[in-house]
Amino acid sequence: MSNPSLLILPGDGIGPEVMAEVRKIIDWYGTKRDLTFDVSEDLVGGAAYDKHGVPLADATMDKAQEVDAVLLGAVGGPKYDSLDFSVKPERGLLRLRKEMDLYANLRPAQCFDALADFSSLKRDVVAGLDIMIVRELTSGVYFGEPRGIFEEGNERVGINTQRYTESEIDRVARSAFELAMKRDKKLCSMEKANVMESGVLWREVVTKVGEDYPEVELSHMYADAGAMQLTRWPKQFDVIVTDNLFGDLLSDLAAMLTGSLGMLPSASLGAPMANGRPKALYEPVHGSAPDIAGQGKANPIACILSFAMALRYSFDAGDEATRLEEAVNAVLADGLRTADLLGEEGVQPVSTSEMGDAIVAKLDASL
Ligand code: NAD
Repeated sequence: MSNPSLLILPGDGIGPEVMAEVRKIIDWYGTKRDLTFDVSEDLVGGAAYDKHGVPLADATMDKAQEVDAVLLGAVGGPKYDSLDFSVKPERGLLRLRKEMDLYANLRPAQCFDALADFSSLKRDVVAGLDIMIVRELTSGVYFGEPRGIFEEGNERVGINTQRYTESEIDRVARSAFELAMKRDKKLCSMEKANVMESGVLWREVVTKVGEDYPEVELSHMYADAGAMQLTRWPKQFDVIVTDNLFGDLLSDLAAMLTGSLGMLPSASLGAPMANGRPKALYEPVHGSAPDIAGQGKANPIACILSFAMALRYSFDAGDEATRLEEAVNAVLADGLRTADLLGEEGVQPVSTSEMGDAIVAKLDASL
């Protein structure tokens, strides 16, 4: 059987710096775990614009459609701020998401014990937290028609439309159930079925899809109550599935329960390919951080944890993903901190590559 394939797009700013650390980890899996990937690397964002005049070349797009997973660093930077909207670095990322039709956005909120004091919530509320929000990404109120600002009588009216088809709900619900099957087999669906017809349909379709996953315990919650419960006692959840608008809010809320931007991974998944794997793009939540780029200060953990998600959700290597997450946890427990994680007095920050090396050393120690 051929090796699984991975396209790496480091991008701009700190993107290449954090990706260099992921490369060390990919190499470790090849030499120490016999888990070898066919890795190719290409340009995206400003780096692609500099070479090709576009933020994503057609050949790169074609490659992204063929591989088992894409891992992206970050795009953008002040150098590109004055470019025309059509060739801005972010357009490269949007093209990838659109043409790969990545409709399920996965945003974990995972709290490493050593960082529990970074949260604005009490330690016992967040320590050990590990939940996953699945946000529908390609439909709903951000895309529904009619939309616009119209004249009505002697004033203007702003209109956006929440619109979901059964098939759009069905496919994101299936992604969420599949994830739940790989985790604690618990799924909570959030909408506003009490006041929105789209919420009534959402609840009906999710319940119907649930019949195909009898092992998963399905519950429903109104999204506003969900927001309250997420801050009150987030550990009651495992996987949450919700629409584009509510997911936008709830995933940011849940992510920040756990602290720094430099720690947050994400995945965007689409339809299953011929080999059964979903189309997939993995990337840290953070941007290209031009303020610290080139200084060896970036925290590589968000990008490393994005690769851990790829191991779990694209490569059926959940045990290896857990090994990597435990290595990150162990390094943090030893007190190693990049500059963004400093809080305790007297702690000297480690560099991007020292953090990567320390995680590799913990992987070695896990054998
Ligand atoms: P940002 O996420 O790049 O940075 C926000 C702050 O967090 C900065 O102070 C930065 O130094 C810090 N930070 C971010 N990631 C870090 C890490 N891994 N380690 C340590 N510190 C980290 O957001 P921004 O400053 O609003 O945007 C900068 C550029 O990135 C812009 O061009 C923006 O368009 C782009 N951007 C890209 C993406 C993406 O590629 N997905 C996402 C957001 C922003």
